[in-house]
Amino acid sequence: MGHPTRTRVGIVGAGPAGLLLARLLHLTGIDCVILERRDRTYVERRQRAGILEQSTVDALRSAGAADRLEREGTPHDGVELRFARRSLRLDFPSLTGGRRVWLYAQTELVKDLIALQQKEGPPLLFEARALAVEGNDGDRPLIRYAHAGREHTLVCDWVVGCDGYHGVTRHGMPEGVLRTYERGHPYSWFGILADAPPAYEELIYAHSERGFALASMRSAHVSRLYLQVPNGTDPEQWSDERVWNELDARLATRGGRRLHRGPITSKAVLPMRSSVTEPMAHGRIFLAGDAAHIVPPTGAKGLNLAAADAMVLGRAFAHLGATGSTELLDAYSDTCLRRVWRAEHFSNLMTSMLHLSPDQSEFDTRLQLSQLERLATSPHAAAELAANYAGLPVGGDAGGGGA
Ligand SMILES: Cc1cc2nc3c(=O)[nH]c(=O)nc-3n(C[C@H](O)[C@H](O)[C@H](O)COP(=O)(O)OP(=O)(O)OC[C@H]3O[C@@H](n4cnc5c(N)ncnc54)[C@H](O)[C@@H]3O)c2cc1C
Repeated sequence: MGHPTRTRVGIVGAGPAGLLLARLLHLTGIDCVILERRDRTYVERRQRAGILEQSTVDALRSAGAADRLEREGTPHDGVELRFARRSLRLDFPSLTGGRRVWLYAQTELVKDLIALQQKEGPPLLFEARALAVEGNDGDRPLIRYAHAGREHTLVCDWVVGCDGYHGVTRHGMPEGVLRTYERGHPYSWFGILADAPPAYEELIYAHSERGFALASMRSAHVSRLYLQVPNGTDPEQWSDERVWNELDARLATRGGRRLHRGPITSKAVLPMRSSVTEPMAHGRIFLAGDAAHIVPPTGAKGLNLAAADAMVLGRAFAHLGATGSTELLDAYSDTCLRRVWRAEHFSNLMTSMLHLSPDQSEFDTRLQLSQLERLATSPHAAAELAANYAGLPVGGDAGGGGA
């Protein structure tokens, strides 16, 4: 493909937000171009999220991008919480009036969207790094980008930055327009992938006196497991045996099963961050997904928020195309931020309920256990957690408000 120089919607970044938005625009006949700084293999192999909310699955279905997800994805009707060596299962359909989540790795979702895009369009340029977004005050914002050793310019009617936390689009907004609200966390997640069948059918979130652990999976043969570790932990300092022993110790219940062990194929430490940039749009430039907000992964919300932003924006552009009205585009930031802050609250709540802080006192631990106990004894408390985890519908006002 040559170098595109003109489009209606210029999209920076081919993660879940950019790819889904491009697909939705393509289906409504709106011309767009995606620029992605990495190569295709890198984008398709990047290990990240694995839980899709019902509304994300519904959006992929209506975008014609769910064939493989239907065959290979696994619906999960609940999660298990472990604390004080006990186990509590939350059943989503009965607590939420029928909602559930799906296990389908972000790598697979990204591969599906790229495969569709390569077959049907719109244009996607890999190894095309956006250098700057300019001209926000006029009618024709533009993206300056580098590809194959040369600089090019893509003139757009609208620009959408789906370029993640370190992206450049945000910097195209005039100074003083954006405000970022942030919170750091005093611990990280040490994540491993292992060629070992998962020992459990659903995700297990464990509170223990040794710190948090999460047992998840990527397929019937691959386990994905996480341990809370101090910030700055070097994964190479952890032998495989130490990792498995620590996971078993943190996930232990009275009489419970142990994990199936197998070769560990990947070890990485992921710092945790909470951040929201407001507003998510200014003039003709929009931000979507991680470019505008980051949540700690404990609530499994990052990928789903990115997909929700793409849905809201896809609908707003379709409305513009059908009616000529920018009403929904104008409402985009407010609409998304309601959902974003709900997800931030939920993700921070899950994080603080399950992790031990470095200065954790016995009093703090008692408070956490009381909160977990409340989930076991109050259907209302359990329903509130389940509604937030399974995800709020991306409905008419798309923000969903609170649950
Ligand atoms: C290491 C890691 C692990 C995670 N694990 C989980 C998890 O377990 N559960 C969970 O729910 N969430 C997880 N997340 C969060 C989730 O994966 C993200 O929220 C999701 O990827 C957001 O999608 P996005 O499209 O907004 O951004 P991204 O997926 O980050 O995509 C942004 C894209 O923009 C491209 N880009 C950046 N700058 C430029 C530029 N200048 N020009 C062109 N392209 C550019 C990038 O290469 C990238 O492809 C994790 C995130 C990370 C970073």
